[in-house]
Amino acid sequence: MMYKSTRDASVSVSSAQAITTGISPDGGLFVPASLPSLTAEELAVLAGKSYVERADAVLSRFLTDFSAEEIHACTSSAYTSARFGSEAIAPLHELYEGVHILELWHGPTCAFKDMALQILPHLMRVSAGKTADGKEIVILVATSGDTGKAALEGFRDAEHTRILVFYPEEGVSPMQKLQMITQEGENVAVCAIRGNFDDAQNGVKEIFTDPAVAARLARQGMLFSSANSINWGRLVPQVVYYVSACCDLMKSGKLRPGERFNVVVPTGNFGNILAAYYAKRMGVPIGRLICASNRNRVLAEFMETGVYDRRREFYATVSPSMDILISSNLERLLFDLAGEDDQLVAELMEQLKAGGVYTVPPAVKQALQAEFSGGWCDDAQTAQTIRKTFDTYGYLCDTHTAVGVHVYEEYRAHTGDTTPTVIASTANPYKFSRSVTEALGGGTDGSDEFGRVEELHRLTGAPIPAPLAALRGKAPRFRQICERETMREAVYQLLHIEG
Ligand SMILES: *Cc1c(COP(=O)(O)O)cnc(C)c1O
Repeated sequence: MMYKSTRDASVSVSSAQAITTGISPDGGLFVPASLPSLTAEELAVLAGKSYVERADAVLSRFLTDFSAEEIHACTSSAYTSARFGSEAIAPLHELYEGVHILELWHGPTCAFKDMALQILPHLMRVSAGKTADGKEIVILVATSGDTGKAALEGFRDAEHTRILVFYPEEGVSPMQKLQMITQEGENVAVCAIRGNFDDAQNGVKEIFTDPAVAARLARQGMLFSSANSINWGRLVPQVVYYVSACCDLMKSGKLRPGERFNVVVPTGNFGNILAAYYAKRMGVPIGRLICASNRNRVLAEFMETGVYDRRREFYATVSPSMDILISSNLERLLFDLAGEDDQLVAELMEQLKAGGVYTVPPAVKQALQAEFSGGWCDDAQTAQTIRKTFDTYGYLCDTHTAVGVHVYEEYRAHTGDTTPTVIASTANPYKFSRSVTEALGGGTDGSDEFGRVEELHRLTGAPIPAPLAALRGKAPRFRQICERETMREAVYQLLHIEG
């Protein structure tokens, strides 16, 4: 299996190269040259297997330059019950008849990013061993909150690796910020930037593709890579949990042979829902893919109109990890829907960069709408959904998951579609204690983050995750703030590279 670039289909690299370099030099993203398949019989066999075995089966089809032993070493180190709370790793919770919540936040940082970032360092180590000939890997991350912490935790003290994380100063929850600025490890650094997530992501992308920066790092024996979902090594582990959810539904008899299920994903950078699309293309019996946005509804509108327009106000919402106007991974979907037309993708991305808007051709719009539905909700609706879901089903969800639940309920009411459904749940509610507590009618005035955690516990009885409780009283290590324009200098400084 080789990988090509969405902006130059003649590029051909191995998965190890795609994972170590992160992004193609032409600015495009790496995609598999063809999607492997999983037959109904193979899925039935996997239904009887563990999460690690399911991951082995999926990864071995994509990472064909890895040996079976290498893949199993990665999956079995990453997906342990010690780190994810149980053997299920990504358990399904039935909300009501036919509607399931796929809980992706049982990992060490309490967000779904752990599903990929617990294994990415292992994939990176094996990949670097094959391609990086002894160079030190510098992982550069832009985060809307959850990726940063999950990447820091995954890569901390990993050999021959350093990790630098940039987050929007005002754009993350207090708990997310605490998680990052107290990070332990000798090879880590964290820096706030004045700007929003899109600024951070654009800055990181520019640094990545700047030959002058690459040359300067090369002189120090260093090589950039990415732990953002632009890296193929982030996406492939996400395909696994959709396969696994399908297996669990089959195993419990909730999905009968020949039946399909819909998938709902609270979406920001389009990585998680793209993984579901890839799972479907491989043969997992997925019906509609429902893309849920918050008030930054650029994707919901795109699904409806075929026009992607980022020229709009940016809102800081109660679901900050979805406060994104430029969804990087949409580029991969466009490439696929447009029949791998690299020139078209390159043009659309150029239009987005230059003018902030593009319109896809009618055939692409048609292909998009054949697979996807979109919806969105505002903060008040998010809060109502948290309350209603708790009052009605006794189930506590976080602000991001609530966006998914709300959009699903509207979709169902509007279409009458009662196909079995899996809603991706992307974070533990305690990461967003203030918003969740307020949604339930609890008071948060005057208390600090841990006061709010206790209030939420008092209201719901939901267990407080140990890694979050352990942050109490921990001293911050990283207080640096930089401008969007000075990110390059911050990188040099954090890496101790002199002029
Ligand atoms: C990252 C994140 C999302 C968005 O996921 P994408 O793959 O970027 O679409 C949603 N919810 C939470 C809690 C997240 O951390």
